[in-house]
Amino acid sequence: MSEKFVDIIAAISSSKNVIITGHIMPDGDSIGSTLALGLALEKLGKKVTMACPDAVPESFLFLPGADRIHCGVPKNDEYDTIFVVDCSTPDRVGEEMQELLNGNITVVNIDHHINGVQFADVSYVDSSAAATGEIIFDLLDELGVIDVDIAINLYAAILTDTGSFRYEATTSLTHRRVAKLLEFGINVSRVTKHLFDEKPLEVFMVLKQALKNLYISKCGRAAWISINWDELQKIGAKDEHTRELINYPRSIKGVKIALMFREPSPGLVKVSIRSNDDTDVSKIAAEFGGGGHKRAAGCLIEGDIETIKEKVIEKVLKVLD
Ligand code: 5GP
Ligand code: MN
Repeated sequence: MSEKFVDIIAAISSSKNVIITGHIMPDGDSIGSTLALGLALEKLGKKVTMACPDAVPESFLFLPGADRIHCGVPKNDEYDTIFVVDCSTPDRVGEEMQELLNGNITVVNIDHHINGVQFADVSYVDSSAAATGEIIFDLLDELGVIDVDIAINLYAAILTDTGSFRYEATTSLTHRRVAKLLEFGINVSRVTKHLFDEKPLEVFMVLKQALKNLYISKCGRAAWISINWDELQKIGAKDEHTRELINYPRSIKGVKIALMFREPSPGLVKVSIRSNDDTDVSKIAAEFGGGGHKRAAGCLIEGDIETIKEKVIEKVLKVLD
């Protein structure tokens, strides 16, 4: 057995009744990692509850086991261990789940973000991994429990968090891990169709509206896009339909820092920040109470969206100066 997972494997061995969760506004890495670990622990004979602080986005409902993910914390259960995946800070699990972290329970954190907070009894954080799914792959590979359903979940986690292997964090090791996953018999075209080529109509309605609010700075090095609560309501779209908007300002030639502003609920603004050069945008996000990675970060801010836009853009332009 390799040294690196000794503590996590010990926590697994002494657990009987576990709950697994990822972060609020879940992405593919959060959902895929939760499911892969959950299905694996079940194979190891544990009583497993898989949870998510928010509803699972429609595009991930095809993942094996997704119908078993509870939205929120299922009550009346005596968990001995909580596995928190893809979260760098405890607030990422949402208020209800955070209460569980403070109770009489062993907390295990598996994550790949930089500058996280130490909040667990057992932590395994590897910021060189492009996805939490890569770390879970190593763990489950070592435990010898991967099957095709688990492989699909890990594949989806890694594929989504690397932007289909386009982002800087993608390494030869990422590809080696994925090669091993494919050997379990994943139907690649079926999985990628679900993930990327079967979008709800709302995604396009949101894009049409948001493109009216796509702007670039005078210097051409910052660009941003936004959609507010009223606009989302008019379309009848949910927050999950806004996920891809950040790619539009991000892929304008010459843009170094791209931003997306959206209002998932009235008066709450979610900011996504992406860097196309060496600027560490997790530092910018941290100034507004968030975090993330060097090239992809975010934060949640309460207040008026237009005021928040001004403040964050001003900060970004200063950093670029
Ligand atoms: P996204 O913009 O896609 O929501 O997030 C980009 C990256 O930043 C992800 O790795 C995500 O975990 C992190 N991130 C996004 N929002 C927050 C936040 O409010 N707090 C922290 N700590 N990290 C965030
Ligand atoms: Mn991730």
